[in-house]
Amino acid sequence: MRLTVQVLSVNKALSIQSHPDKQLAEQLHAQHPKLYPDDNHKPEMALAISDGFEALCSFRQPQAIAAQLRKTAPEVVQLLGQGAVEALESSSAQQEPKEALRNAFSALMTANPASISSAIDAIVARLSTQANGSSSGQGNGAAGLDPHESLVLRLNSQYPGGDVGVLASLFLNRVSLNSGQAVYLAANEPHAYLAGEIVEVMASSDNVVRAGLTPKFKDCDVLRNTLTYRPGLPEVLQGTSLPLVEKEEKQGFQVSLYRPPFEEFEVLRVHVAGGSSGVLPPNEGPMIVLVQGGKGSMQASGGSVSKHLCGEELQERVDVARGCVLFVPAGTQLTFTSTPGEEPMLAWVSAVNGIFFQLHGAVHGAGGANPAAAGGGAEALSLQGGVAAVPTSQLQGSSMAN
Ligand SMILES: [Zn+2]
Repeated sequence: MRLTVQVLSVNKALSIQSHPDKQLAEQLHAQHPKLYPDDNHKPEMALAISDGFEALCSFRQPQAIAAQLRKTAPEVVQLLGQGAVEALESSSAQQEPKEALRNAFSALMTANPASISSAIDAIVARLSTQANGSSSGQGNGAAGLDPHESLVLRLNSQYPGGDVGVLASLFLNRVSLNSGQAVYLAANEPHAYLAGEIVEVMASSDNVVRAGLTPKFKDCDVLRNTLTYRPGLPEVLQGTSLPLVEKEEKQGFQVSLYRPPFEEFEVLRVHVAGGSSGVLPPNEGPMIVLVQGGKGSMQASGGSVSKHLCGEELQERVDVARGCVLFVPAGTQLTFTSTPGEEPMLAWVSAVNGIFFQLHGAVHGAGGANPAAAGGGAEALSLQGGVAAVPTSQLQGSSMAN
């Protein structure tokens, strides 16, 4: 289990990026260890913790991209060539849209910077005029502009000076999530977080292939050769209710499961009304718990020894509050108790994905603690039982540099 859990508060869009799959990560790391610092892949999931989280995820349908370019960005049509845009228009579900998408997107990413810059200038000038004199660049809800056009103005105001990502945004799906909704990103899918608050869970890796909205290196060859170019909206996970003892649900203890289709991790959202408590059954693997709100305690059983929380020596029971992060070894049952009179306790629990255990078989009985068997990496798991803080996680919302 090599996971990173972080809270992001995004004000300014983060770079358009993708992450290589395991095989490609190994290859890139071997060839360019400075650019690709490790050989691990990086599936990730974004769980919205406030309404209105915005992101760009995966490619739009080719026809939609072509229509948008003809409407909004004739300069880009000229840059890519009529042939490339016609190929987008004529590709259908029967025909493989991959080649048309790859050609058009690669042509954009490899166009010379001066042409990109002048195309953006012309498009932005036209959209600003169209937005009824609203040339502030904010663009949100500007009259006469569609959402992608408003976004072009906003991204250009955040990344002025001809960043190709401003135009690349026209190729990608705009996704908006409300609190409690999540999207996951498989390997080699382009994405960018634009605004809002999320808990982000990902396999630990530093490997990022960037495609704009960044001053950093853009690896156009890798983009061209590795992106999936599979158009379509990403699946939005709503969280499925975990069957619990009925009594607990009535008493205000609710657990929702977000399970992406890859083995690395899944996430549970635990909601405990003030004065209530409930039991989270032991997981076959270890868990990381992040407390987003409320106050109370967590009691571990199935483990044996006391551990640390924010520097304090503690027994199997720890007091928790907003911002606490706990490490829970495999096979530990956790009882959540929310303090009466306080706001509900809300916690996010990242665990090894159940798919992993289905595929590889149960590695030990519930209650046993053999963390080395879970998730294929024992280095982070020297703890045996009890609950401990995870020092490396970021506890506070931050706007990450990209
Ligand atoms: Zn990412």
